Amino acid sequence: MSDYLRRTWAEIDLDALSYNVEQIQKRLAPGCGMLGVVKADAYGHGAQQVAGVLAQHGTAWFGVSNIEEGVALRNSGFAQPILIFGTTPPELAGELAQQRITQAVYSLEYARALQQKAEAAGAVVDCHIKLDTGMTRLGFLCDDGQFERSMAEIEEIAGFANLRLGGVFTHFASADDYEGDAPDYTRMQFDRFQQAVAHLRARGLALPVRHCANSAAVISYPEMHLELARPGIILYGIDPSDQCAGRLDYRPVMSLKSTVASIKRIGRGTQVSYGRTYRAPRDIDVAVVPIGYADGYSRALSGRGRMLVGGRYAPVLGRVCMDQLMIDVTGIPDVKRGDEVVAFGRQGGNAITAAELAEQIGTIPYEVTCLISKRVPRVYLRGGRAVEVVNHIL
Ligand SMILES: *Cc1c(COP(=O)(O)O)cnc(C)c1O
Repeated sequence: MSDYLRRTWAEIDLDALSYNVEQIQKRLAPGCGMLGVVKADAYGHGAQQVAGVLAQHGTAWFGVSNIEEGVALRNSGFAQPILIFGTTPPELAGELAQQRITQAVYSLEYARALQQKAEAAGAVVDCHIKLDTGMTRLGFLCDDGQFERSMAEIEEIAGFANLRLGGVFTHFASADDYEGDAPDYTRMQFDRFQQAVAHLRARGLALPVRHCANSAAVISYPEMHLELARPGIILYGIDPSDQCAGRLDYRPVMSLKSTVASIKRIGRGTQVSYGRTYRAPRDIDVAVVPIGYADGYSRALSGRGRMLVGGRYAPVLGRVCMDQLMIDVTGIPDVKRGDEVVAFGRQGGNAITAAELAEQIGTIPYEVTCLISKRVPRVYLRGGRAVEVVNHIL
């Protein structure tokens, strides 16, 4: 491990990732393949490395949010089919075709623009039709009022010479919620999806690959797995929501670590950090940790977060700065400069989860790992040993 890493780094446990993939594959309905969701640099874990592990486990497809992420996978040598969930400028139709990347087609207007640019480029673009069954984001609306019109539009698109329709998909709004009307809503979305697919198939569209299951649906709705499932967050060992906890066995993949830069004892009444929001109620031992909001440790954790040092919890004191913060290490024996500090992950018998941080700042754990900035080197572990380090700064 390079010495640069002795400030702040993220550990990515590839054994945990392998374990999670195996657990997910065991859960998938027979005949269901996996589209591993590696958008947003694999939720901050590193798309190239994560895709490498997924490929070793025979993952059929990769899912990304935009064309750059798809091209990056191609540049890393991945030959698997790749689906872009989001929009791509139609001007890039030729690039999509050349890179053999599949594009979500979500409206007639978009399909026309893509067809026109594909034709001009002399290219055929692989596409999956995106149905909006209740998420109200991208897609052809499938509610009763719009159903017929959407189906007619998709039939028209099926006649476009430069778009090849290989599949159809939708996305759930609240599959991770088991309370109130949420499960009914998920089933309603699935019913609309099935109805639309049945209608289109009856009209002669093959649409061989159907998919709708995100992580929560992989866990809880096996009847919705179909030809392909699209797990994201559970690959990374994180519950889609608290309600999903314990429904499938997986292990957190990412830990965020730093080190003690300095320790000092401060007297009662001493004020700490910007804005002096913390005042020591008695003499305490303060450790300075070289991690801040520019590393992705949210400033919203000011006065709320806690870290692990010496296997014990140490509260964050006052404001989180851009590059540093202070923690209270009073009573933790023998803390010294260079000691490892865990922002989330395990140390000794204790743990801090991404979900805990998310709860403290009023967000979801997805955002916690995505926020870890490019300033933080990623250290990839196999058998507890570093096998690769990615430093985006150097
Ligand atoms: C992000 C995303 C997923 C994965 O969602 P998770 O909750 O992380 O499993 C699946 N499908 C689409 C279209 C997405 O945008």
